[in-house]
Amino acid sequence: MAQEELLSRVEDVRRTLAAASEGRYPPPKLIAVTKTHPVERILPLLDAGVTDIGENRVQEIVEKLPAIRKKFQIHLIGRLQSNKVKYIIDDVCLIHSVDRLSLAQEIDRQAQKHDRVMPVLVQVSPAGEEQKGGVAPDELRPLLREMARMPGLEVRGLMAVMPNVPDETYLTGLFSGMRTLFDRLREEAIDRIAMDELSMGMSGDYRLAARCGATMVRVGSAIFGPRGSQTGGMNDVVSG
Ligand SMILES: *Cc1c(COP(=O)(O)O)cnc(C)c1O
Repeated sequence: MAQEELLSRVEDVRRTLAAASEGRYPPPKLIAVTKTHPVERILPLLDAGVTDIGENRVQEIVEKLPAIRKKFQIHLIGRLQSNKVKYIIDDVCLIHSVDRLSLAQEIDRQAQKHDRVMPVLVQVSPAGEEQKGGVAPDELRPLLREMARMPGLEVRGLMAVMPNVPDETYLTGLFSGMRTLFDRLREEAIDRIAMDELSMGMSGDYRLAARCGATMVRVGSAIFGPRGSQTGGMNDVVSG
């Protein structure tokens, strides 16, 4: 894919975000999801002013690190095995996908060992789809209270992956429900728990997410084209 096409896709996504959130919320931060894409395709994002990228596999982050470290803020957005935390703890800016106490404990342990405080989000399962990861909403507060006691963690907010369905009304309900939960937790002001980031929305639904108050969207194929394709199809992925 030509570089201009990549840049114009980023612009399209930004325009869509600004239009969708207009008047109600600030436009969410764009996290370009670069998983499966080689560094030669990632580096041109710098010319589009993209500062933040998302990856979902530790092994892939480690392989790409020499080329992308210090150039981008790297977000870990995928399911994380506890025994791999040590490989990325120094190099990622935010772990979006904390979904269990044992993982929080390992991040806390490694962060302290590496002399840092690791910003994290707790992944919530908005539709009771536990196979997509995420804690059930009623398990959230007990987990947050445990995490608040961990000196190596800085909880910054919530993350969700929505079901892959075309029903906009249904999705809007889920996104709005996440925003309500997020606002409520912020009002509860749990000690040492910040609620300033809400990571939700992907290529298929980021416009809805922006309209419902996401603070970060994670967008891959709307920028790079469908995964596994080097040329990409322009028509189906960028929605206006
Ligand atoms: C791959 C992935 C994305 C981006 O998906 P697209 O549909 O390509 O935009 C977002 N979030 C998570 C957790 C992912 O694994």
